[in-house]
Amino acid sequence: MRIVVLAGGIGGARFLRGLLAAAPEAEITVVGNTGDDIHLFGLKVCPDLDTVMYTLGGGIHEEQGWGRADETFTVKEELAAYGVGPEWFGLGDRDFATHIVRTQMLSAGYPLSAVTEALCARWKPGVRLIPMSDDRVETHVLVETDGERRAVHFQEYWVRMRAAVPAHAVVPVGADAAKPAPGVLEAIADSDVIVFPPSNPVVSIGTILAVPGIREAVAEAGVPVVGLSPIVGDAPVRGMADKVLAAVGVESTAAAVAAHYGSGLLDGWLVDTVDAGAVAEVEAAGIRCRAVPLMMSSLEATTQMAREALALAAEVRA
Ligand code: GDP
Ligand code: CA
Repeated sequence: MRIVVLAGGIGGARFLRGLLAAAPEAEITVVGNTGDDIHLFGLKVCPDLDTVMYTLGGGIHEEQGWGRADETFTVKEELAAYGVGPEWFGLGDRDFATHIVRTQMLSAGYPLSAVTEALCARWKPGVRLIPMSDDRVETHVLVETDGERRAVHFQEYWVRMRAAVPAHAVVPVGADAAKPAPGVLEAIADSDVIVFPPSNPVVSIGTILAVPGIREAVAEAGVPVVGLSPIVGDAPVRGMADKVLAAVGVESTAAAVAAHYGSGLLDGWLVDTVDAGAVAEVEAAGIRCRAVPLMMSSLEATTQMAREALALAAEVRA
């Protein structure tokens, strides 16, 4: 079975662990979000690709969900001693090595997809990880501070401002001119099932779908497309997805997120058991829906979620 997963960072990566356990024989291609990418200290940082790579490769800081385990921050402290920021983005010493290798390869002319493949040769994530695009796409958020509207990089909004200021729009700058990375459209066209993990529907999966050609390829693949809600009990399980959903005019409910993707894209949708009341509404919108436990509290629980997603795919295929 060939499975394509459109993934952001933590939610996507944790789900993928369960999917690997649920379908050990499957060939899994992960199309990763690069809208969160940022240049820091002259280095190219790809937070979502790295979260997937470290999580599946055994290098992740488990409790935090991002960054490396056993991390130290000497370089960051030395940079701060020079007065060189930003101090709000946590780059550890081990993590720095990844960004140095990546930047060096990009400077030598390799596209990001080839660089990602090279980094994965060390981490062996057990999936084929491809960035959504080799072209630069940067998610910006239109915020309002002191009565003035301005656009800030997504990381500044999310990490420095903690999404605490009103957001009026989310713009994937550069997406309209970006091309899907080599292998992305082919993997989608050749897949047996496409999965939207419980990743952020706006700034993770939404950004991937904003690359021209990807949304169309998913819609036209002719295979089941199933998703898992990142919203449980009318709130994100983790993080601030409600803020960016509000910015695009979508309510923070499992049903509203399904409707946001729409029946033109989604065939099946899993909501948590606490949202069982939303099943009828989602089905009325033309999307097959089931309520099952959706908390990734352990590998067993996550594996069961992946099994449910594959079972739903089989059901809509039949
Ligand atoms: P990010 O790039 O690190 O923000 O990660 P993703 O976009 O891949 O995933 C973020 C989303 O994962 C958030 O909206 C969370 O609500 C969701 N999430 C995190 N843990 C869980 C969980 O245990 N269950 C569900 N259903 N969603 C989760
Ligand atoms: Ca992200």
